Amino acid sequence: MSAIQNFFLKILPKAMGEDMRRDSMRWIVKCQCGFGRSIWEMGGIRWKASGDRKTLLKCPECGERSLHSVVYVPDSKVST
Ligand SMILES: [Zn+2]
Repeated sequence: MSAIQNFFLKILPKAMGEDMRRDSMRWIVKCQCGFGRSIWEMGGIRWKASGDRKTLLKCPECGERSLHSVVYVPDSKVST
């Protein structure tokens, strides 16, 4: 867990912190090669957000620097 995640989990009420964690885990960053990981896994937080977007990242799987899609997956089974 990253320092920023730890910080928010500490200052937020427990239920709210859990909500934030779940939401961040449902935002998936996907490479064109098919590799995906959650924002939470990457040490980030995305909470109460909406809309898809793109972000330029280097993929750890294929090693390519490419546009990754950031998509909300409500039933994501990705865990920490
Ligand atoms: Zn890739």
